[in-house]
Amino acid sequence: MPTVSDALHWAEQQLAQVGPDSPAAAKVDSQWLLGHVLGRNSAWLRAWPDALVGEPQWQQFQALIQRRLNGEPVAYLTGQQGFWTLELQVTPETLVPRPDTERLVELALQKVGPEPARVLDLGTGTGAIALALASERPRWEITATDLEQPTLAVAQGNSERLNLPITLLQSHWFAALAGSRFDLIVSNPPYIAADDPHLLGPGVRSEPMRALVSGSDGLDAIREIVRQAPGHLDAGGWLLLEHGWHQGEVVRALLLGRGFTGVATERDLGANERVTLGQWNPGSL
Ligand code: GLN
Repeated sequence: MPTVSDALHWAEQQLAQVGPDSPAAAKVDSQWLLGHVLGRNSAWLRAWPDALVGEPQWQQFQALIQRRLNGEPVAYLTGQQGFWTLELQVTPETLVPRPDTERLVELALQKVGPEPARVLDLGTGTGAIALALASERPRWEITATDLEQPTLAVAQGNSERLNLPITLLQSHWFAALAGSRFDLIVSNPPYIAADDPHLLGPGVRSEPMRALVSGSDGLDAIREIVRQAPGHLDAGGWLLLEHGWHQGEVVRALLLGRGFTGVATERDLGANERVTLGQWNPGSL
């Protein structure tokens, strides 16, 4: 039976030499996966390098490393992903929440204060954005939609486990929201072009295409949301959209063309244009 240190050493070498990871990522991924199999955190692994890994756990660990070598995201292998301050359950029915999307959460919190507000998250996936907002703004009334029932079930599970109540609704963008208005609408919609070679890369390949791809230029979902959002925003309400690093200019043009004011694009952790926002002020036109 290998020790913890043997198992980690073997996995790091596999991931860095054969697989998709940099040496630093190989180390972190190995720890996450061994910790998952043993039901321990990385502090325990560091404290007990000579502990023996039992045969069933060693088999299970090797199988997980093999799946990681095939490109599956660590989040699908452990079923969990950290986002904001929350630990979310993820499944292959959901996009893996990205750190860049935390920018969208930050900006939403800057735009709308803690007083009661009606807030909508379109295409919620795991519920990441809606639940992060709920954790920071207990007085907001938050609705989150998704196209698919199995995805909504994951978001519902996260909402219950984290004890952060939100209203979940099956809807294609605004389809099930006739007559509803909000103070803030946020979305991380699919925004990748159908022929983008990035889609063949490790990781993304395992994720649901409907959460990633949106038409030939990646902008179908964003165009539809921008077109319909004014019908669902109260005067002074904000729309915040995540988009691709090269889409800032065109998304700003879409918002300006639809009559939004205060249109601006903010950058993500990698300094790429990532979130464009605008305010709906019909009176000022
Ligand atoms: N940022 C993700 C990626 O490039 C895409 C997320 C999305 O399409 N909403 O992999």
